[in-house]
Amino acid sequence: MKKVVKFGGSSLANAEQFKKVGEIIRADEGRRYVVPSAPGRRFSNDTKVTDMLYDCYHRAEEDQDFSDALQNIRDRYDEIINGLGLSLNLDSEFETIAENFRSKIGTDYAASRGEYLNGIVMAEYLGYEFVDAARVVAFDEEGKFDAVRTDKQMGAVLEPLEHAVIPGFYGAKPDGTVETFSRGGSDITGSLVAKAVHADLYENWTDVSGFLMADPRIIKDPVTINTITYREMRELSYMGATVLHEDAVFPLRKEGIPINVRNTNRPQDPGTMVVENTCNKPKYTITGIGGKKGFASITIEKAMMNAEVGFGRKVLEVFEDCGMTFEHTPSGIDTFSVYVNQNEFEKHEQQVIAGLHRSVHPDMIELESDLALIAVVGRGMRRTRGTAGRIFAALAHAHVNVKMIDQGSSELNIIIGVENRDFETAIKAIYDIFVVSRL
Ligand code: ASP
Repeated sequence: MKKVVKFGGSSLANAEQFKKVGEIIRADEGRRYVVPSAPGRRFSNDTKVTDMLYDCYHRAEEDQDFSDALQNIRDRYDEIINGLGLSLNLDSEFETIAENFRSKIGTDYAASRGEYLNGIVMAEYLGYEFVDAARVVAFDEEGKFDAVRTDKQMGAVLEPLEHAVIPGFYGAKPDGTVETFSRGGSDITGSLVAKAVHADLYENWTDVSGFLMADPRIIKDPVTINTITYREMRELSYMGATVLHEDAVFPLRKEGIPINVRNTNRPQDPGTMVVENTCNKPKYTITGIGGKKGFASITIEKAMMNAEVGFGRKVLEVFEDCGMTFEHTPSGIDTFSVYVNQNEFEKHEQQVIAGLHRSVHPDMIELESDLALIAVVGRGMRRTRGTAGRIFAALAHAHVNVKMIDQGSSELNIIIGVENRDFETAIKAIYDIFVVSRL
């Protein structure tokens, strides 16, 4: 089995965590390619090295003295190096970094040093080869990620290596300028490596034992999902579940390489398997519940709307012209609603209203705000009768008024719109009916 293992910042926050990681890697010969993040928080109000680097570079950019800030970063690495009993010396690395900061090399370079240095430490600790991500992760001249070139370069460099450490989060443009992914982007690097080396499994090690069926801030000790499909995960992640960076799925989607989300602090837990498809019958009808507050709806009413060719397009064009995306568009015979992010909408509200009047001449426009969307997701729903019935019975019993319903044609999800203040109650009621009572 060829495995790519990615470790998040909390798994590498200090020497003690590094030792756990070392044990995990050594316990399985298949764990050949390692993708580390930068050291994360050691305790709750600690600062991640990536944030320390952003701050330090900001000082350099403002021509302030940044030597103390850089020394604090250095201390984090020295603490790890000494704790592991390594003889590694990072003097020259830190000299180069300080020089580059002084010449104002760029924020992305600065942020990427967290992963870069951790990769060097990790490679030394494991006795694995270090492969700088700038050599293998490619961005184009405009700074857009280049998937084709990355796959080629990465495959060519990594395939001949028995073992390697590839730092997460960054790559480089053709001229060598360092570019990073968005925050949490080491997950993406892990996927890219898994794809390039045709791994059998991508293990993503973090500080939770996988995906939970619901937000633990709302549901006490929710059940861990043992298997979830990429599509289900997308439905849930878009609603705010953030164990894995959502772009991490795309490189692997067409490859059929599963991702196993595991807990460095509890390696005995099997974690969650994220797969392309599975016959594995879920234990519960639903796989998970996700949700988010802060939506607004714009309802347009116009007599004989259904007979007007191009009505929907014209409405959506108004939002497009404001640079806005939309979430859902439930409609009736003479009504058409658009659900959008409330904060976004507030910035463009009057522009949208004027645009709608101009382009579709509605009889009425109704606005509603402070809405929440809840996604009930599960591949098991397709085979089960009465899922929607049970959800709405549960919500009625909990005195939650449902404002909108949208069942995707894939029968993978049911989206429910409620008022923000009913959000938690609604999630509890749905979790209760499917998981606690298991009806
Ligand atoms: N270190 C980066 C961050 O804090 C990337 C990562 O951890 O995946 O966002």
